Amino acid sequence: MIDIKNVSKWYGSFQVLTDCTTSIQKGEVVVVCGPSGSGKSTLIKTVNALEPFQKGDIVVDGISIADPKTNLPKLRSRVGMVFQHFELFPHLSVTENLTIAQVKVLGRSVADAKVRGLKMLDRVGLSAHKDKFPGQLSGGQQQRVAIARALSMDPIVMLFDEPTSALDPEMVGEVLDVMVQLAQEGMTMMCVTHEMGFAKKVSNRVIFMDAGKIVEDCSSADFFSKPEERTPRAKDFLAKIL
Ligand code: ADP
Ligand code: MG
Repeated sequence: MIDIKNVSKWYGSFQVLTDCTTSIQKGEVVVVCGPSGSGKSTLIKTVNALEPFQKGDIVVDGISIADPKTNLPKLRSRVGMVFQHFELFPHLSVTENLTIAQVKVLGRSVADAKVRGLKMLDRVGLSAHKDKFPGQLSGGQQQRVAIARALSMDPIVMLFDEPTSALDPEMVGEVLDVMVQLAQEGMTMMCVTHEMGFAKKVSNRVIFMDAGKIVEDCSSADFFSKPEERTPRAKDFLAKIL
C-alpha cells in the first residue's frame, strides 16, 4: 500500500531524512517512534506529499509521489491525516467540518457528504454533538471529530502524527479506543505515537527513527519481547518511555 524507497530530504543544508526505506502492506498497522527531532513527523508528512523530498520515491497504492505527472491533491484526498493539534475549522459546526472537504475535494453533494460524515461521527461515538462548534468540545472529542473527518473521505490509509500527545491524560484513552477499533477493522495505519500500550496491542510493526534514519524496522512482537536484540539507541529510548 505504501512503499517508501530511499527517501532523503534536506531543509537547506540540514539533512532531516537519510535514505529511509520501508513498506506498509494493506491492513498493516505500523507504529513510528523515536526521540524528538528524529524526523518522524517529516517522514509521515512525505507520505501524503505535504512535505517534498529531494531523493527517492514513495509509492502510495501504485501512485508515485516523485512522478511529476502525479496529481498530488487527488492522492492527498485518499490519505487520511490526523495531527497532534486537531485543526478543525473553529468557525464551522462539527457537521460542516465533516462535510466541507467531501464537497470541495471529492465533489460529493452536500446531502451525500452529510450522510457519510454523520455515519463516521457515529462511529467515533459523537452523533449527539453534530451541531456544536469545535470550541464547545473537549480536546479528546475534537480529536475524534478530526478522525471522523478523515474517515469521511474514504481514505485508503490513515496517517496519525502523535494524535494523543496534546491531550489531557484523561482523554487519551477515548482517542486510542477509536484508533484500536480502526486497526481491528483492518484499516492500513501509520502512526507516530509514544503510546506503547497501543503499539503492543494493535501494531504489526514498529519503526524506530533516530537522527533522520530508520534504525529499527521489525515486528512489534520482536520489538517488545526481545529487548536484547534492539540497537542501543532504541534500548535507551524504550528504557525512558516504558
Ligand atoms: P519529530 O517529529 O521526530 O520530532 P520532525 O520531523 O518534526 O521530528 O523534525 C526533524 C528535524 O527537522 C528537527 O531537527 C527539526 O528541527 C527539523 N525541522 C522540522 N521542520 C523544519 C523546517 N520547516 N525547517 C527546518 N528544519 C525543520
Ligand atoms: Mg513530530
